[in-house]
Amino acid sequence: FCPTGSIQEVSHIERLYAAIAEGKTIVAQTAPAVRVSIGEECGVPAGEVSTGKMVAALKALGCNYVVDTDFTADLTIMEEGTELISRMQKKWAATPEQADKMGPMFTSCCPSWVNNVETRFPDYLDNLSTARSPMMMMGSVVKTYFARKMDIKPEDIFHFAVMPCTAKKGEIDRMQMVTGGMKVVDAVLTTRELGKLIRKHHIDFPALPNAEFDSPIGNSSGAGRLFGTTGGVMEAALRTAYEILAGKPLGTLSYTPARGLSGIKEASVEIPLKDGPTKTLRIGIASGISNANNMMHDIRAGRRRYDFVEVMACPGGCLGGGGQPKSLDPRILEKRQSAIYTDDERATQRKAHENPEIQQIYKEFFGEPNSHKAHELLHTAYADRAHLVKQPPTDTFNDVNTAV
Ligand code: SF4
Repeated sequence: FCPTGSIQEVSHIERLYAAIAEGKTIVAQTAPAVRVSIGEECGVPAGEVSTGKMVAALKALGCNYVVDTDFTADLTIMEEGTELISRMQKKWAATPEQADKMGPMFTSCCPSWVNNVETRFPDYLDNLSTARSPMMMMGSVVKTYFARKMDIKPEDIFHFAVMPCTAKKGEIDRMQMVTGGMKVVDAVLTTRELGKLIRKHHIDFPALPNAEFDSPIGNSSGAGRLFGTTGGVMEAALRTAYEILAGKPLGTLSYTPARGLSGIKEASVEIPLKDGPTKTLRIGIASGISNANNMMHDIRAGRRRYDFVEVMACPGGCLGGGGQPKSLDPRILEKRQSAIYTDDERATQRKAHENPEIQQIYKEFFGEPNSHKAHELLHTAYADRAHLVKQPPTDTFNDVNTAV
């Protein structure tokens, strides 16, 4: 029994076959961590970025369109970054005692982490960012903006996501994610399931020519690509939030304190506000659920104080997700992480707000970050579900789950 639902694996492959047989328009999205690991399933050495071949394989499997979850990772930065700025402005205006009581804002893109807060730390529900995960944002965008652009009825679209994650299979069924009476993501295939399909259909993956994602929701900045690793959401958010608050770029694009595979990382960022004094943003990053739980107990006890905390339930973040290829290589997480950093460096734009397709979607559809329409389609709510689990008797989880 997994308390966060992250080890539940139910195959959704039959849903895809049924949708193809029904003649639906098939739209796939692929997460940042999948392109650096799918090759391991299909004869490509670990640590290579296989984005173009992955898109080509999905087209060969019958997808009409393949769009990029990294695009909605950029959208997440716009929405979550705006929310962070607004929370921080209130916090910086408060007294130190009031600011302490406010606590940090937590990221919300990992469904296992969200389940964990809802069941074990419901007193922190208001601290979770209301931004939906990039996968769920993409579902909303595909069945509204993209459907309209392509002149397809939303009900004729079958939209599935290829994820490194088994918990994502449960996230698509959250009732808070139903939009306009519709489920926005119809199925989730893990990286391993995609590998299985590619092999079953005898697709020669290494020999495939590179294919491109479909526009106008297929372009991503390097920031969006970082979501596949621990520290990536933080680094991506800092690139945009710092620039908005300070009116100038963060000195370095590769923010070293957020990098690497440590289970807990922390740092302070000094932000010279463009219209005021210099303020400090205290950041925390946890990967692996036991590290996150220990960090939570420290926060509650006042032993750690942060303003913005990124949590990913899997060791190393999504690159070590439950749906990723199994490997006996002791350096596998390092290799996948290095591939993600390379993918960031190769991007034409490195910051979410500089992605031209992000600028276009706000201009044509959402208006501005955190607008009414953005709240309706890109944000969510949470519920106290503490009654579903027996609470542990101690204030540490080390005896339950070994820290990484
Ligand atoms: Fe899923 Fe793990 Fe990534 Fe969380 S960290 S979204 S559980 S793969």
